[in-house]
Amino acid sequence: MDRLDQAMRTAKRDDTLVIVLFVDLDRFKQVNDTFGHKAGDALLQETAQRLGCCVRDSDTVARLSGDEFTAILERSHLEQNAEVVAKRMLLALKTDFIINDREIRIGASIGISVYPHDAQDRDTLLHHADSAMYYAKKRGRNIFEFFDPKIHAEQNRRSHIEEDLIVAIGQEELQLHYQPIVDANNLSIVGFEALLRWEHPTMGSISPVEFITIAETSGLIKRLGEWALQKACRQLKQWHEAGYSDLSISVNVSVRQFHLTDFALDVARVLREVEIVPEMVRLEVTESIVMDIPEKVILMLHVIKSLGVNLSIDDFGTGYSSLSYLQRFPIDTLKIDRSFTAGIGGAGGGTEITLAIISMAHSLNLKVIAEGIETAEQLAFLQNHQCDQLQGFYFSPPVPATEVIPLLNDSKGTK
Ligand code: C2E
Ligand code: MG
Ligand code: MG
Repeated sequence: MDRLDQAMRTAKRDDTLVIVLFVDLDRFKQVNDTFGHKAGDALLQETAQRLGCCVRDSDTVARLSGDEFTAILERSHLEQNAEVVAKRMLLALKTDFIINDREIRIGASIGISVYPHDAQDRDTLLHHADSAMYYAKKRGRNIFEFFDPKIHAEQNRRSHIEEDLIVAIGQEELQLHYQPIVDANNLSIVGFEALLRWEHPTMGSISPVEFITIAETSGLIKRLGEWALQKACRQLKQWHEAGYSDLSISVNVSVRQFHLTDFALDVARVLREVEIVPEMVRLEVTESIVMDIPEKVILMLHVIKSLGVNLSIDDFGTGYSSLSYLQRFPIDTLKIDRSFTAGIGGAGGGTEITLAIISMAHSLNLKVIAEGIETAEQLAFLQNHQCDQLQGFYFSPPVPATEVIPLLNDSKGTK
């Protein structure tokens, strides 16, 4: 730290640059776990040697903690110097280590920040090198990255969202809105799709696509998914009790929930607690999820299906479904992705794909829902071609729970 302070002061006076490299070893923990701590120590010593050889005598290399090393390059005139040194370091660490007669291969990720461009003070400079290292690691192994204010801002937003989401779950900020799904024959409302909405006190409304992705990678998805399922089922129960007993509810399920082993148990518990007829609940699973680990997912789908709930493939046509798997999935419904609905009547093939999906679904005894209907033309086309159910802004956008009963009464009146 003292050397870095010193270097920054000199650089300020000489009008030169200070380059900070943050080096983090890949797979170091694995080495410790597999070969023991003695081997780990030897590997760190050897790493220090190798890194030392990559810089000038007047530069500094230090081990800050665990498997994190830092280098300070002083009196640089060009940022390219950083690149040269980073490449040299990656190469040096790529060569096999021989520890106790064993060949061990590791690798490293390097983040780079530059004084005075990226920060004016020591802590921020180090922090920026660290965050650049973090996105190098995310991009892959054996890569270096310069600090980038844009990526930094994105990551900041991400970590704020992650922190605040924990608090938001179970508070008024987070809500479900409901979009009607109508019968294609008589346009009466047969059910609703529950969609998450988050009105953040300072960031404003945040798209579910954004915060669900974050919840998925941070492990919050289990709680979020359970919360949504429970809330949606409770709401359905209320509508049933208000006399709308034919309504069903569709709830979206995320990739990660599907990979949790106790997901089926969670679903079963919610259904039991809320005392809802499972047949009135439909879980929407995005196509890409289903194809992830087909065998495992097929098993999970069967377990969930055995609870009595309906299963639907969402955004159908955008993922990578192997059509042969469709027969083995215990699903009831395909939802045509709204990009195809939007393409009906256009030259992009939306019409043909929509027709093909409807026809294929029907021959497999599946129902078809078209989502994203916005125009009367799309509606007429889908009705003429025996699509079973419809959803889209043409009928209604997703609305808060309080607006559902008026919507239902209107829909009765126009029937
Ligand atoms: P999705 O399940 O495919 O939901 C349909 C999306 O299309 C919704 O966006 C809806 O507002 C929008 N939409 C509906 N009708 C129209 C239309 O006519 N035109 C256009 N342009 N858009 C229409 P939203 O609410 O932003 O949700 C986006 C995605 O976020 C959902 O796609 C779903 O994958 C995910 N999502 C939302 N809520 C949840 C949830 O509770 N759990 C999980 N895992 N995912 C959720
Ligand atoms: Mg959906
Ligand atoms: Mg969809």
